[in-house]
Amino acid sequence: MSVPGAVAGTSEVADLLQRLIRLDTTNPPGNETAAAELLRDYLEAAGVECALYARVPERANLVARIRGRGDGPSLALLSHTDVVLADPHEWERDPFGGELVDGEIWGRGALDMKGEVAASAVTLATLAREGWRGSGDLIFVASADEEVGVGFGLQWLVEEHPGAVRADFSVNEGAGDRVELGGKVLYLCSTAEKMSSPFCLRVHGRSGHASMPSIADNALVKAATLVARLGDFTMPPQLIPEVEGFLAALLGEVPPAGGALAAARGAAPLAAELIEPLLGMTVSPTKAHASDKRNVIPALCEITVDVRLLPGETPAGAEAVLRAYLGPGDYELVNLEAQGGTRSAVGGPLWDAVQSFVGEEEPGAVAAPICVAGFTDSHWLREAFGTVAYGFFPARALDSETAARLIHSANERVPVSDLELGTRFLRHAAQTVCA
Ligand SMILES: [Zn+2]
Repeated sequence: MSVPGAVAGTSEVADLLQRLIRLDTTNPPGNETAAAELLRDYLEAAGVECALYARVPERANLVARIRGRGDGPSLALLSHTDVVLADPHEWERDPFGGELVDGEIWGRGALDMKGEVAASAVTLATLAREGWRGSGDLIFVASADEEVGVGFGLQWLVEEHPGAVRADFSVNEGAGDRVELGGKVLYLCSTAEKMSSPFCLRVHGRSGHASMPSIADNALVKAATLVARLGDFTMPPQLIPEVEGFLAALLGEVPPAGGALAAARGAAPLAAELIEPLLGMTVSPTKAHASDKRNVIPALCEITVDVRLLPGETPAGAEAVLRAYLGPGDYELVNLEAQGGTRSAVGGPLWDAVQSFVGEEEPGAVAAPICVAGFTDSHWLREAFGTVAYGFFPARALDSETAARLIHSANERVPVSDLELGTRFLRHAAQTVCA
């Protein structure tokens, strides 16, 4: 155990992260119960109420709670305890060693996301020791099975134990990067996620022997024209609220949609890179399959098209746009799946907490909303309870480019000073949202 009463859980968060990394929770198979039990023992020692929920014994989720004094807003600190595979041969240190080297803790999950797990647990433990209680509940959810997502983690909790995880507000992974754009410092807060809505383009022809091309109707050749056309696809730019908020933070004003990209580029090239995929649905043909035999002209060519939609757009709407764009032809468009695409409003108590924290930690810096391409467990809470869910775990010592290179990769590590920054933020969020 670390020293109770240390300043807002400083070295305590590092110590807890080291112990979490040393438990191998690679998913599959997960074995998250070991992490859930470690966190339960740590939190119960601080007087925090804990419960384990497990669909199968070895894959437990932990829910801990500091009950509120009344019926004020509840805040859930959301995280997952599973990690992706680590190949020790690619690493300079043991991925499950949790070593502290030059102020950084090394190991699988340091960034994604046992660091935030530890910071969330330390937030509840330190507040409990101080005798703090909010107006509403402060909840800590350390869920299993986020990286694979086959029904042992938050999705299962929301369906089977909704009372345990229902919350008005939540903080999760997803952003928190500090970016310097044209002399301005922004901390990105993910308030929305794009929807992944891939399609299969099935192009029809007539098969025949490849030695006599004129008697066949080559589906691959017909598909090539359509693929080339998809490669040129763009939408007229539109500004979603997240991009408006981002541009307002960056430029002090919101330019018209048609000039947004140029205005962002004028401030910093990286700003343009950040908003370009958020100005409309994007379309990228990525896979192709036609004949299996060199000498057979294919009657069918299947093209997989990666399509990402803005929050609020639907696969049916995207299909109509694509059909109108490609025009009539001998093809079908089949939607393959629809995942993500949820958003929470920018503004309100949790937004104010993010903004005030950033301003206090780094005078002159501001928080800016962003819509991210991937999706996190936040969408389960948004869909089930209408939770205002943000992805925000601030990082200052580690720049976002390095972090992006280390996540799900070799030599993942986190500076202790960022763990402490994140812990300060979570304490601030609890104390202001649940005040
Ligand atoms: Zn993660």
